[in-house]
Amino acid sequence: MDFNLNEEQARWRATAREFAEQVIKPDVLRRDRLSTAAERIPWDWIRGADRLGMRTLGVPKVFGGAGTDILTLCIVGEELAVGDLGFAVIMDQCWKMGHILSDAMTPEQQKKFIPRFVKDPEATLAIGFTEPGAGSDHQGYHDSPDIDFRTTAVRDGDSYVINGTKRYVSNGCMAKLYFIVARTDPSKSLREGGSVFIVPSDTPGFRAGFFHEKSSQRLATNGTFHLENCRVPAGNLLVGEGLMSRLRAEYMPGSKAEAAATVLGVGRAAYEYALQFAKERVQGGKPIAQLQAVAMMLGQMAMRLDAARLQIWKAAWLADRKQPEARTLGLLAKVNASEAAFEACKLASEVLGGAAIMYDHPVEKYLRDAASFLHSDGTNQVCLLRAAQALSSETSPSLYGF
Ligand SMILES: Cc1cc2nc3c(=O)[nH]c(=O)nc-3n(C[C@H](O)[C@H](O)[C@H](O)COP(=O)(O)OP(=O)(O)OC[C@H]3O[C@@H](n4cnc5c(N)ncnc54)[C@H](O)[C@@H]3O)c2cc1C
Repeated sequence: MDFNLNEEQARWRATAREFAEQVIKPDVLRRDRLSTAAERIPWDWIRGADRLGMRTLGVPKVFGGAGTDILTLCIVGEELAVGDLGFAVIMDQCWKMGHILSDAMTPEQQKKFIPRFVKDPEATLAIGFTEPGAGSDHQGYHDSPDIDFRTTAVRDGDSYVINGTKRYVSNGCMAKLYFIVARTDPSKSLREGGSVFIVPSDTPGFRAGFFHEKSSQRLATNGTFHLENCRVPAGNLLVGEGLMSRLRAEYMPGSKAEAAATVLGVGRAAYEYALQFAKERVQGGKPIAQLQAVAMMLGQMAMRLDAARLQIWKAAWLADRKQPEARTLGLLAKVNASEAAFEACKLASEVLGGAAIMYDHPVEKYLRDAASFLHSDGTNQVCLLRAAQALSSETSPSLYGF
């Protein structure tokens, strides 16, 4: 094993770390406390990230992006999330669709949609699965025709007419381009009778609803939006009926590892803050970092976060090599990293004592942010169930046999 980063990975890590230190950290607590979701959207940071090439990091080089591998996306995601999880999520929603752009789109779709996204410094992407009646039930674990997943797309001549409501979607109501999951055959399960469509936000019939107000990832949006007789050309069909299982496995191969890396960044931010605090705060006659009770907590944090990172990097490494076990390891890495980060934030708040809840320290924000990934990108329970289901299948590849 070689843990040295290559030149490109090291350069992107340095760029993202500097952005987090110089741009995000100095202003993030003020922005986090602004009262409405709309005023918190960090358009200036999105433009700044675009100037550095970070917004289009996952876009293939032939289309003007950096075309980095999944491991690099994980490294950059962690660094940005040390600054702010919400901002890292805004970026990651763009990156995790990289393989959709390169592998799922037809050449005509690539020509039509990618340049628009690349050229617009404020453009972001979003993927809409979740609906009021289908949260975990769109994850493929309980895959039955009876789930309450209502968005439909009906073929009408050379177009499809989409109707439905999506909620909680990251970058929802701010993104310019959406990938929408809809039932094209409601008599079948979502895996068999679902399809994915490309829907630009200026399509007639696409109606932004509202931003959900929330306690975590406050700089990112989670939107509810509606598709009301939203007509798209048949050429906007991205993934057809019967091929839905390819969406996650082949077209979003690094999504769980990338999500895990972002929440890991919050845990690291909490650890770094608590460590510095413990070196400076004197009680019991010495810096509290030297008190065994506190040192144990710092050691626990470092241990869990480092182990989580190794698992994430392995999942990313496998995904970059299109190994079949990458998906299962990604699910496990997301569960493990979100638990490790949440635990690290809790321990950081123990280290800070009363300061943990005070607004002049960032730890209460880290705790709120880390909580979001216990259930976003699939609840941890359902991610574990999906991983266990894959592990117990007859054709499951060993997690150790690569
Ligand atoms: C920050 C954030 C970002 C998100 N971004 C997006 C996005 O970009 N696009 C998108 O489409 N969606 C997005 N979502 C939605 C997300 O995918 C869902 O919230 C998630 O899948 C869980 O669905 P739910 O909230 O309806 O919970 P529910 O499905 O109602 O789950 C409630 C509880 O029941 C348990 N449960 C449910 N089903 C089962 C089962 N079969 N077996 C055992 N236990 C079960 C769950 O584990 C959980 O404990 C986001 C959510 C959040 C919080």
